[in-house]
Amino acid sequence: MANEFDVVVIGAGTGGYVAAIRAAQLGMQVAVVEKQKALGGTCLIWGCIPTKALLEHAHALKVVQHAKDWGVTIPAGEVGIDMAQVQARKDRVVTGLTKGVEFLFKKHKIEWIKGTARLAGNGRIDVFEGDTRTLQAKEIVVATGSTVRGVPGIEIDRTQIITSDEAIGLKAVPKSIAIMGSGAVGVEFASIFRSFGSEVTIIELLPRLVPVEDEAVSAELEKSFRKRGIKVLTGTTVTSAKGGAKGVDIEARTGDGKTQKINAELLLVAVGRGPVTTGLGAEGIGLQMDRGYIKVDPLFRTSVPHVSAVGDVITIDGPHPQLAHVSSHEGVITAERLAGRHVEPIDYRHVPGCTYCDPEIGSVGLTEAQARAAGYDVKIGTFPFGVLGRAKMAAETEGFVKIVADRKYDEVLGVHMIGPRSTELVAEAVLALRLECTSEELVHTIHAHPTFAEAIGEAAHAAAHGAPLHM
Ligand SMILES: Cc1cc2nc3c(=O)[nH]c(=O)nc-3n(C[C@H](O)[C@H](O)[C@H](O)COP(=O)(O)OP(=O)(O)OC[C@H]3O[C@@H](n4cnc5c(N)ncnc54)[C@H](O)[C@@H]3O)c2cc1C
Repeated sequence: MANEFDVVVIGAGTGGYVAAIRAAQLGMQVAVVEKQKALGGTCLIWGCIPTKALLEHAHALKVVQHAKDWGVTIPAGEVGIDMAQVQARKDRVVTGLTKGVEFLFKKHKIEWIKGTARLAGNGRIDVFEGDTRTLQAKEIVVATGSTVRGVPGIEIDRTQIITSDEAIGLKAVPKSIAIMGSGAVGVEFASIFRSFGSEVTIIELLPRLVPVEDEAVSAELEKSFRKRGIKVLTGTTVTSAKGGAKGVDIEARTGDGKTQKINAELLLVAVGRGPVTTGLGAEGIGLQMDRGYIKVDPLFRTSVPHVSAVGDVITIDGPHPQLAHVSSHEGVITAERLAGRHVEPIDYRHVPGCTYCDPEIGSVGLTEAQARAAGYDVKIGTFPFGVLGRAKMAAETEGFVKIVADRKYDEVLGVHMIGPRSTELVAEAVLALRLECTSEELVHTIHAHPTFAEAIGEAAHAAAHGAPLHM
């Protein structure tokens, strides 16, 4: 068994496994050390894939609940959700994809070393807790990712006070659930459990839901959530939470200083994720760190030669979103650099952000407030899905597309959407920003009819000419 490799990747999440595949495609001999029983990391096992599978179940339930509107007759009786079947199907989707990564490793002759890796210096990696081996690599790529983070004073017991890791595996629909944090993870679970019939309360410290999104998007989501019966508490801090025989007793301080008491069967803590570097030996080999994250330059080189790092575990000058597609792209760039190819740094302003709650959110670039703060003379074009033929057919009429453009050169600075298929539609907006499109160019990009994408063309009309066509 060879222990010497061109590249050893630590961690088989979307950052690590994609880096490994690309490096192997470029002719390098590659091994990946992964401690879990399956490949794919957070995204495939606990994150993107299982949550979106649950959201598809929520969507299916919504369609069936409105069967009458669709002219679909179903036998009399209550429409409900069978969590055993939901979980079984979700697990099949996850297993299919993790096995798919295993297949790709075999296809590209990438060795999966099952164990935990520790950096030992000078290209050496000690593998323990599993396949105990010492490896020697010309290049090392650290992709150890992130894990759930708690908040001081609130003890996560993983039964009543839970994280997303437990929430995706719940065997029964909770009667009630309070969710701390309204980032993508928080609002996606709020959407899922409300659809499944739970009483949902979402508690956000900042003044609005999905605080990284454009303010208009946050307002629209709050309106929609309230309509669905989700209780929204913004500007509110959870001060204590204690599980007991009658559920979790939560105390929170509202913006006006009042104390609010909430009782829920479960409390889901969704306040972000922190890096996985404990026990990795990073400091021991001299890697520069920042609050547990590994510091890298724009091409993902660490402070130690021949050691790179990608994905959720890194920090870079400027904002670094913890997203699967970001980690994969960083993995590709790193593999290509190691193969001697010319590579360019990522422009993080062009990273799409997608939140898959109902209604969906897709966004890229500057929000209106950010564009104004950056000194642009801003013009806005908005188009509501409610007037779009395709949206009416689908009975998905909530939300809008909003284009933020610069009045001087007409350049599109940001596109923000909430509503049907927004997580798909945002791809056009990403290309528009990457190619420095003007809103006029978007007007002359022909959008097929009848499609949801027409909303982008109409919003571009509004930005370029002051009004859309169909309003
Ligand atoms: C609930 C949830 C939903 C999400 N939804 C989305 C989404 O819809 N879209 C999106 O883009 N992103 C989403 N994300 C974020 C996304 O999952 C992460 O950004 C992405 O998985 C990061 O990939 P990574 O490769 O950097 O790390 P990870 O996926 O965390 O992988 C790191 C791997 O390294 C392994 N590892 C760690 N230390 C060692 C060691 N010492 N030795 C061996 N192995 C080790 C771990 O076991 C793990 O498999 C979601 C996250 C969560 C929690």
